[in-house]
Amino acid sequence: MAIPLLDLRAQYKTIGAEINQALKKVLNSGQFILGSEVQSLEEEIADYCQVTFAVGVASGTDALLLALRACGIKNGDEVITTPFTFVATTEAICRTGAKPVFVDIDPRTYNLDVNQIEKKITPFTKAILPVHLYGHPAQMDAILELTRKHKVRIIEDAAQAMGAEFHGRKVGSFGDAGCLSFFPSKNLGGYGDGGMIITNDEEISVGIKVLRNHGAREKYVYQTHGYNSRLDAIQAAILRVKLKYLNAWNEARRKKAKLYNDLFKEKNIVLPLTAETAAMRKGVILPAETEGIKHVYSVYTIRIGRRDEVRKALTEAGVATEIYYPLPLHLQTVYASLGYKKGDFPASERIAQEVLSLPIYPELPEEKMEKTIKLIERFLK
Ligand SMILES: *Cc1c(COP(=O)(O)O)cnc(C)c1O
Repeated sequence: MAIPLLDLRAQYKTIGAEINQALKKVLNSGQFILGSEVQSLEEEIADYCQVTFAVGVASGTDALLLALRACGIKNGDEVITTPFTFVATTEAICRTGAKPVFVDIDPRTYNLDVNQIEKKITPFTKAILPVHLYGHPAQMDAILELTRKHKVRIIEDAAQAMGAEFHGRKVGSFGDAGCLSFFPSKNLGGYGDGGMIITNDEEISVGIKVLRNHGAREKYVYQTHGYNSRLDAIQAAILRVKLKYLNAWNEARRKKAKLYNDLFKEKNIVLPLTAETAAMRKGVILPAETEGIKHVYSVYTIRIGRRDEVRKALTEAGVATEIYYPLPLHLQTVYASLGYKKGDFPASERIAQEVLSLPIYPELPEEKMEKTIKLIERFLK
């Protein structure tokens, strides 16, 4: 019984007829870049995320880049973010010419530790860029308070968290701009690359529309360097079909996550959330859900000692797993010039050694989850 990390073919089986119909409509329309499908998707996503504007772009990475630039982030600026994220977050910051400034993570949620942000704010700080990692919202109330006090922008990386909520509000809707990714494996994934920026600021939304279309405010009139970064009509049509299922899929993910948690508890192999480390101990640390949030489990990530050995045993038994992320960004060669060293962000460094993401997707059968847990139990005992 092979168990994949996610199974997009299983999902296609459930919605194939609708998808095929949507594709046919686009093929017959002759309109493939932007156009009415993209505009409708933008309106539907703005509505879903409870914001006024949404602008489709070519990827989640571009969403971050264009959002940062539309917020005025440029050469010489500093942007505070987490070292425990996908590289696209910092890649986008660097492409504006700005410098990422890292703050360590909260060891419970793996998101920015809001108590460590203020001491990193300098006269050059122009924005804070929280990442809602794994689908767990960052602590937006504290981040909003800091940005109001210091008059800096917030750009949210919600690539892993579409539909997640903090105090009843959708993530991505708190900041000056929120960035979504439609990479196929995300909670709302296309059949190719795609991304979107959501915002309540009209000026930012117009700025992004200019940037995504070569910097042209009117046709063939250029005031800034822009990009070719537009969303395809085919992706928009696919995403419009899938958006209708997103809440149900997110609920299914939440149920699977709860079932994993319950199965681990039944086996008595759970360490307290307050455990400093899962190393050398007979148990796993489960994903946290802090007070007042809705987690959407883009991935289901536990912490476990001897992680690489467990992973090998699972792989041999046919269970796919992944490590998001094995080396924090401040220790990556590409960021050596930022001058960080080992020991600068102890929580990120420790947790990077222990995290292991297990298979999760809405159609994942229960018996496959039970098998995975049994294998982990056997390894621990
Ligand atoms: C997926 C992801 C991105 C980038 O999205 P793409 O659509 O793949 O460009 C950015 N940040 C995080 C945290 C992601 O997980």
